[in-house]
Amino acid sequence: MYTEVDENILKRLTDIVGKSNVIISEDDRAEYAFDETPDLKFLPEVVVKPSSTEEIADVMKVASEERIPVTPRGAGTGLSGGALPVCGGILMSMERMARIFEIDEDNLMVTTEPAVITGKLQEAVETLGFFYPPDPASLDSCSIGGNIAEGAGGPRAVKYGVTGDYVRGLEVVLPTGEIITCGGKLVKDVTGYDLIGLLVGSEGTLGIVTKIVLQLLPLPKRKVDLLIPFHSLEAAARTVSEIIRNRIVPTAIEFMERDAIQHTERYLNKDIPFHDAEAQLLIEIDGHREAELEQDYETIGEIFLKNGAYDVFVAENSPAQRRLWEVRRSILEALKALSPILCGEDVVVPRMAIPPLITEVKRITKHHGFEAVCFGHVGDGNVHIEILKRDADYDQWRGILPQILEEIFDVVLGFNGMITGEHGIGFTKKKYLPKALGETQVELMKRLKRAFDPKTILNPGKIFD
Ligand SMILES: Cc1cc2nc3c(=O)[nH]c(=O)nc-3n(C[C@H](O)[C@H](O)[C@H](O)COP(=O)(O)OP(=O)(O)OC[C@H]3O[C@@H](n4cnc5c(N)ncnc54)[C@H](O)[C@@H]3O)c2cc1C
Repeated sequence: MYTEVDENILKRLTDIVGKSNVIISEDDRAEYAFDETPDLKFLPEVVVKPSSTEEIADVMKVASEERIPVTPRGAGTGLSGGALPVCGGILMSMERMARIFEIDEDNLMVTTEPAVITGKLQEAVETLGFFYPPDPASLDSCSIGGNIAEGAGGPRAVKYGVTGDYVRGLEVVLPTGEIITCGGKLVKDVTGYDLIGLLVGSEGTLGIVTKIVLQLLPLPKRKVDLLIPFHSLEAAARTVSEIIRNRIVPTAIEFMERDAIQHTERYLNKDIPFHDAEAQLLIEIDGHREAELEQDYETIGEIFLKNGAYDVFVAENSPAQRRLWEVRRSILEALKALSPILCGEDVVVPRMAIPPLITEVKRITKHHGFEAVCFGHVGDGNVHIEILKRDADYDQWRGILPQILEEIFDVVLGFNGMITGEHGIGFTKKKYLPKALGETQVELMKRLKRAFDPKTILNPGKIFD
């Protein structure tokens, strides 16, 4: 159904991006056959590395004329297989488009290319006293273009929202090779349909993002991190609700259950405070005024004590804060070291459903002979569930996994939740999309896809077939 990449097409691609930016050797292409989704590998027929919007448009025109699949790739940290060329064809790596064009202090906006690493963009704006809040745990390695394609979130979503809340302008190459510009340095804009809203989170299936305008905030002057141990997950969840009921919205509220803490402690080979706690909360509060912050901090302390927290570790300076967040950000790596083959889900439920959800997840996975480790963003109900294969037989694992996921997703939907909070549907979860959204919504999405991509060449095989 798709055309294979042959010598003639390679020549046309070389004419557009130059010989050194067309990768054909199998060894070099193999580096683009993976992302961070465990246990998936798809070799692209060719990798191209454009350096401008016009080059991308020209590549898309060739792909559209010849009907060749094109898969955009940012930094390859995705966890649902989104950047993998599952139908072969051209892998379009954005790596050469990594310039920050402008930090506009008058309009509080930054204009950037898509391959800028998220953490680097944050550092660049922070040196000028500005703040770009979305903070996926992968921020040291993922790209801002990938964040937009995935609608990435992070711990600070509780107070500051997710990537989509900051996107004000996008330049996009459509699958046909046409170039569009949506929005700009505009705080308000209701001119026509909200295409930015549609493109954010579209997982590279509707267009290739080539230029981005993001809203900035003033950088909060101070922040405090608190690590709090609890004897039960229910007590931790109750605490979170009470904090929010008291009109305090922390920057981040993360939870880690005991298994996550202990596996990470062994992986990092460092002592982690309160490692025997059934559950830990990691709470960050920030603000511009010292007095306000202290008031929140005191109220939160009282709520902790009332709900059975038995200690607290306070980190007020950057090195201590970095140490606390290192543990939280290392959990996934620690679990991968323990079980290189694992299945990571990132379901989202109303906050108070987290304790019964985790109980059910543990019951289901144990019933099928596997271990699940849970952690994540309790403040916004987004739970990471890592199901570990460890030394189980591979075929048995592959055979039973869909059944385990069906059962877990049924529980999630039963709690009025959704099957992914930030990692996207991608390649790995498309089978479950109709269960989550119903056929009518999925059909509507397919019609939108056809309107953008009539020949189905942009990132085919993702979200739906
Ligand atoms: C340890 C770890 C922790 C993580 N923590 C979080 C977290 O806290 N929150 C979170 O949301 N995610 C998290 N992730 C997942 C991942 O980092 C995010 O999904 C991230 O947004 C992917 O960015 P990327 O540049 O690596 O994109 P890639 O993996 O390269 O691509 C992801 C998707 O974006 C598309 N894409 C990439 N660039 C473009 C572009 N310019 N135009 C159009 N489409 C494009 C690709 O086709 C693909 O579908 C984590 C991953 C790891 C490994």
